Amino acid sequence: MEPHGTQNVDTRKSSAKRLADKVAVVTGGARGIGAATAKLFAENGAHVIIADVLDEVGATVAESIGGRYIHCDVSKEGDVESAIELALAWKGHLDIMFNNAGISGSEERSITSLDMENLSHLFSINLYGTIHGIKHAARAMIKGKKGGSIICTSSAASIMGGLALHGYTMSKAAMDGLVRSAACELGVHLIRVNCISPHGVPSEMLINACKRFENVDITPEQLNEMIGKRASLLRGRGATIEDVAQAALFLASDESGFITAHNLRVDGGHTSADSKMS
Ligand code: NAD
Repeated sequence: MEPHGTQNVDTRKSSAKRLADKVAVVTGGARGIGAATAKLFAENGAHVIIADVLDEVGATVAESIGGRYIHCDVSKEGDVESAIELALAWKGHLDIMFNNAGISGSEERSITSLDMENLSHLFSINLYGTIHGIKHAARAMIKGKKGGSIICTSSAASIMGGLALHGYTMSKAAMDGLVRSAACELGVHLIRVNCISPHGVPSEMLINACKRFENVDITPEQLNEMIGKRASLLRGRGATIEDVAQAALFLASDESGFITAHNLRVDGGHTSADSKMS
């Protein structure tokens, strides 16, 4: 096997099985963006381990794609290490780490009433969970000497203020810094580190956040329509979990072999536009 990301890319051949024989760990893979990505990775030939805290649903998704499931609370370093050990025990190598697990966090709207315990809990998942993933994936990939691709799910909130609450915004902005910093160190091992910044994907996390923070009961279809009207330059077109999964597939595959330290926005242009335009 060639080092990850260094093959000459034959787009005709690779379009069918772009991740043939690669091994991937997907955190937060039981539902939403993570589940859609795990499925797409598997369809493209990858062996996928789903690492989540939703055991029943996670195991069902893993079974449906011929993958494996492991209970993994990303805030616990030992759990993340075990997920990577499972990949090594199962297939002998790790090529792709998708640090995707995340929560929307605490309720406080004002910086003046931030609850430090809530903030710590949020950081322990969104930020420390990602640190655990990068650290242990990098160890395995360095040892494997074949390079690899580490992808993290950041957010448009990492780029733009006011899109989300303070804690969430901070956790994702810190993640972006971590991605650039880790990419600088790991490039010498041909390990690429990138993140994706979605916006307005009608997952359970966002639907629940609308309920909790805005007191709005909204269906995924209504949310998608609303995003298509107000938060996308692509009129009428809101985001889907598959849009993010396709971006993850690109960053996981050899087609993106010269891309690292990048934040790929999957936001319909929202974070690049004046608010009157979007
Ligand atoms: P989701 O709630 O459907 O999925 C999140 C997954 O993470 C779930 O399977 C959940 O069980 C898992 N998870 C939560 N805490 C965990 C923990 N401690 N350990 C392991 N797994 C854990 O929501 P989603 O929208 O698919 O979220 C996926 C990622 O996308 C998150 O990092 C989120 O911040 C990010 N994101 C989402 C949006 C959006 O619009 N939905 C926008 C920007 C970024």
